[in-house]
Amino acid sequence: MLSIRFHGRGGQGAKTASRIVGTAAFLEGFTAQDSPIYGAERRGAPVAAFTRIAKKPIRERGLIARPDLVVVADASLIGDPSARVLDGVDERTVLFVNSPLTPDQLRARTSVSGRLTVLDLTDLALKQFGKRGAISALLGAVAGRLAGLRPESIREAIVRELTDLGLTAPVIERNQALAMQCFEAVQPVTLEPGPRAPVPSAQLRTPTYDPPTRGTAGITAGPNSAIRSVSGWRTFRPVLRPDLCNGCWLCFASCPEGAITIKPDGKPAVYYPHCKGCLDCVEVCPTDAMTVEREPEGANK
Ligand code: SF4
Ligand code: SF4
Repeated sequence: MLSIRFHGRGGQGAKTASRIVGTAAFLEGFTAQDSPIYGAERRGAPVAAFTRIAKKPIRERGLIARPDLVVVADASLIGDPSARVLDGVDERTVLFVNSPLTPDQLRARTSVSGRLTVLDLTDLALKQFGKRGAISALLGAVAGRLAGLRPESIREAIVRELTDLGLTAPVIERNQALAMQCFEAVQPVTLEPGPRAPVPSAQLRTPTYDPPTRGTAGITAGPNSAIRSVSGWRTFRPVLRPDLCNGCWLCFASCPEGAITIKPDGKPAVYYPHCKGCLDCVEVCPTDAMTVEREPEGANK
């Protein structure tokens, strides 16, 4: 059995990528299983998805603790302890990371070691589509290539999964074309599926019930407080062009993180440590005063 774990941020398409790989494997006659986990289901928050592929019926269920392949849609997840990207990764695990950095640069900047392959899917998508968006087809194609699946089954799986999401035929065709470019471009690394050391069983804890003074969440208590930075979640950042801003405050009212304040001159200001990069402020801005810039790798703050 081949076990693939996808890590992404809400909205990047990790779940759909996992489905594309599962469907492509199914089309080739394998047994396939895929499932996502969303956590707090908040755009930009870490999400994971799991695909198992086998020639025989798959009895295993649930999360993949010992993956053969880990697909990372956003390099900023590697340093995010809540994403747990490197959990269960051993010397046989292959890691694919969507990043403009080379494998050596990535190793130097993160705790990643071992068998690593990279491709800048975000840059390819920006060049092809001219705007940011989900990269599910690209992630699915890369994972399918590394898993040894055929391009024709991945193409068909992309059509099925993106059609289910309601995308139009021209959009699906463009996704397919770019996905095939990624399929060809990714540096293949041979996977080594097989039995792995078991994961130590979790230690069960008995819940205790505290009085409200202790049991009630406090907004000022770390890590859900004002000192908790979510800047590492961003792939793109909103940047204000004050000359275009009419001071309507729609961005301020729409920010789900309260990351926008209004200055004495009536213009908004983004507080970047609390900005997760959802870009809702950009979407609502009627004058295009909120623009988008790609976050330089490792520079979020
Ligand atoms: S400032 Fe904009 S991009 Fe940042 S969290 Fe608020 S709405 Fe999202
Ligand atoms: S929504 Fe746009 S125009 Fe309105 S205050 Fe925000 S940046 Fe300015």
